[in-house]
Amino acid sequence: MTEKVDIFISGAGISGLIAAAAFGRAGFSVVVADPMPPVPASDADGSDLRATAYLRPGRDLIEDAGLWDVLSDHATSLDILRVIDTTGWPPKERCVRDFRADDLGNGPFGWNLPNWLTRKVLSNLLAKTPGVDLRLGVGFASTLSRETEALVRLTDGSNLRAALVIGADGRTSPVRESAGIGARVTRYGQKALALSVTHPKPHENVSTEIYNSGGAFTLVPGQPHGGQHSSSVVWMNDGSRAAALMAMDDTALNTEMTRRSCGVLGDLTLASPRQVWPIVTQVAERLTAGRVALVAEAAHVLPPIGAQGLNTSLRDVAALLDIAKRAPGDLGSAAMLRSYEQARLRDVHLRATAIDLFNRVCKSDSAAVQKLRLVGLTAVHDIAPVRRAVMRAGLGAQTT
Ligand SMILES: Cc1cc2nc3c(=O)[nH]c(=O)nc-3n(C[C@H](O)[C@H](O)[C@H](O)COP(=O)(O)OP(=O)(O)OC[C@H]3O[C@@H](n4cnc5c(N)ncnc54)[C@H](O)[C@@H]3O)c2cc1C
Repeated sequence: MTEKVDIFISGAGISGLIAAAAFGRAGFSVVVADPMPPVPASDADGSDLRATAYLRPGRDLIEDAGLWDVLSDHATSLDILRVIDTTGWPPKERCVRDFRADDLGNGPFGWNLPNWLTRKVLSNLLAKTPGVDLRLGVGFASTLSRETEALVRLTDGSNLRAALVIGADGRTSPVRESAGIGARVTRYGQKALALSVTHPKPHENVSTEIYNSGGAFTLVPGQPHGGQHSSSVVWMNDGSRAAALMAMDDTALNTEMTRRSCGVLGDLTLASPRQVWPIVTQVAERLTAGRVALVAEAAHVLPPIGAQGLNTSLRDVAALLDIAKRAPGDLGSAAMLRSYEQARLRDVHLRATAIDLFNRVCKSDSAAVQKLRLVGLTAVHDIAPVRRAVMRAGLGAQTT
C-alpha cells in the first residue's frame, strides 16, 4: 500500500529543513527529500559558501521549530548596519550612516550563520526528529494532484500520498515545473562573489554595506577563523568584473577587496574558496497549484541586498504554517492554498520590486543616480521616523 503522510517537502535546503521541523513540531507527519546530502566541511565539493543573516522574525520561526539551540553557538549577532556611500576608484567615502538595532529595542537585527554549516547541523537534528522522515539522496520526480491528496513519485521509484506538497526545491524548482507554474525572471548582468575573509580590526558586530558601482560590497560579521577576526563577503559586480576577480590570484584579490572595502577592517585576507552566484530577480507567476504550495527560492529569488532572500522565504514558511495550524483538517485544500497565496503574493511582489529598484540604484555608475542614492541614504537615515519605518520593513514588518 502507498505510504500516506500529511506533507511532502521537495528540497532539504535550509528553507525545506526549517519547514520540515516547523510542521513536524506542529504535529503534522512530514517526509522531506533531497538528492544532495549536506557537505561535511566548508571546503568540500558542493559546499554553499554563502552566509545568511537571519533577521529577528526568521530567528523566531527557527526557535519555535526547536532549532535555535543547535545553531546559536555558531551564530554572530548583527547590532549595527553601517552604510557607506562611495564614488570613483579607488572608492572615496562620501557618507557613512549607522542604522542601530537598539534604535528599535528588542536586541540585535539578526544573526549570521554559514549556509553549509546550518544545513549540516539541521540535517543531523532532523534525522533524529520524530514525525519527520528526512530522505537524502532521493529526489522528487513527479506529482499527480487529486481532489483529496497528491500522489508523489520519488526518484528511487517509491510513491507517497500527501495532503500537501511543498516545493522548497530552489530556483529551478522541479515541483514548480511539474505544477506548470511559470516564473518571471529579470537579469542584471551582475554576479556576486561569496567568500570569507580575515582582518586585523574587530568587526564589533557591525554589518557594513559599501556602495560604489556594479553593486553593493557587504561585510557580514562572523565567528573567528584560525584565531583571527573574520567576516563573510558578498561582492556584487558586473559579470565581466566578477569573472576577472574570480581569475585573480589571492594576493591581487586581497588588494582589490581591501580597496573596495575602504579599509574599514584593515587589510582583508581571503580565508575560503570563492564562489560566484548570478544575480536575478525571479518571481513565480503563482504560489500554488492543486495540493501544491511553493516557498522560498522555488517561489522567489532576490538580489542579495538587505538580507531579504532567505528571510522572505521564512515568512512564506511562517504564513503557511500559521494557516495550516488554524485548520489542520483543511491541509492542502483549495481554500487553504488560496489563503496562503493571499497572505504572501503581495508581500513577495512588493519586496521584489523594492529590491530590484534598490539594486539598480546601487549598481549604477551614472553620476546623477549616484547623487540620488546619496540624497536618499541621508534622508532615510536622518529623518528618525523614516529611518525606523525602513528598519522595521527590512526586518519583515508586513508590507501589505
Ligand atoms: C551571494 C548571496 C548571499 C546571500 N545572503 C543572504 C542573506 O544574508 N540573508 C538572506 O536572507 N538571504 C541571503 N541570500 C539568499 C539565500 O542564500 C537563498 O535564498 C537560500 O540559500 C536559498 O535557500 P532555499 O532553501 O530556498 O534553496 P536551495 O538552497 O537552493 O535549496 C533547494 C534544495 O532543493 C534541492 N532539490 C533540487 N532538485 C530537487 C528534487 N528533484 N527533489 C528534491 N529536492 C531537490 C536541492 O538539492 C537543494 O538542496 C543570499 C543569496 C546570495 C546569492
